[in-house]
Amino acid sequence: MKLALIGDPVSHSRSPAMHAAAGEATGVSLTYEALRVSAHTAEETLRRLHDEGYAGLNVTVPLKIEVLDALRADPDAVVDPAAERIGAVNTLVRAGSSWRGFNTDAPGFVRSLPGELPERVLVLGAGGAARAVVVGLVDAGVRVRLAARRFEAAEALAPLGAEPCEWPPALDEALIVNATSASLHDGEAFTAQFAWRLSRGAHVVDLAYGDELAFLQRAAHEGASVQDGKAMLVHQGALAFEAWTGSDAPLEAMFAAL
Ligand code: NDP
Repeated sequence: MKLALIGDPVSHSRSPAMHAAAGEATGVSLTYEALRVSAHTAEETLRRLHDEGYAGLNVTVPLKIEVLDALRADPDAVVDPAAERIGAVNTLVRAGSSWRGFNTDAPGFVRSLPGELPERVLVLGAGGAARAVVVGLVDAGVRVRLAARRFEAAEALAPLGAEPCEWPPALDEALIVNATSASLHDGEAFTAQFAWRLSRGAHVVDLAYGDELAFLQRAAHEGASVQDGKAMLVHQGALAFEAWTGSDAPLEAMFAAL
């Protein structure tokens, strides 16, 4: 089975290692390449990779929105309703003469959470990852408060079912999700702007990966349990693997490959 990640950049991606490990652990014979594909070429790329016999694709920056547009323009393609609401596709499954498009970030995020979901969640940020997190949580029946440094950006997610709130928000929900990209560039200053009064037993997630994320270090210092973006990455990959192969994804092997 031929699989690939398309986007640019892709050389840093851990998805090839994760899916190779999944293939090995399950005995599914597969190849998973990282193909550098630039913006504005989605339509042509999807046609070419279909002709070349690829069974499934992952899609990353800068193509997630463009691929959705290409699928909408193709009468033989099918787009999952959740991917439509999120406005981005990250997984393609070969189907007849075209593709079926999904977004596994939303259910992947929800599956990555420990224990039962709380009734209310606070999400920080209003970019692509925040949209997926909001759709995943709203579909799971959770009330979502959403804060972004630009209020109009938070308001733009209201149609997805999130309630926009002030910035910086009080960090008083049982589950707090940092879906901004701040941890990648100015995590210390970002973290310092909040009044850190967490509720007892709070769980704090940052969608970035790493052991040294300032936001999570502070949350842990305040007594919260914490989680970085690795679990979401594995679970979105696991859902893609299951859609492509029909086999249960070997989560432990996929985690280990990261
Ligand atoms: P986007 O660029 O689409 O959105 C980034 C968001 O962060 C915007 O709302 C932006 O606000 C906000 N932001 C950036 N810097 C700051 C700051 N200093 N203070 C407040 N808000 C800020 O990025 P993505 O949504 O694609 O990615 C967000 C994060 O999620 C990244 O860390 C990414 O690595 C991670 N991610 C993890 C995944 C996983 O599987 N674990 C999957 C996808 C993403 P503004 O619009 O005002 O600039």
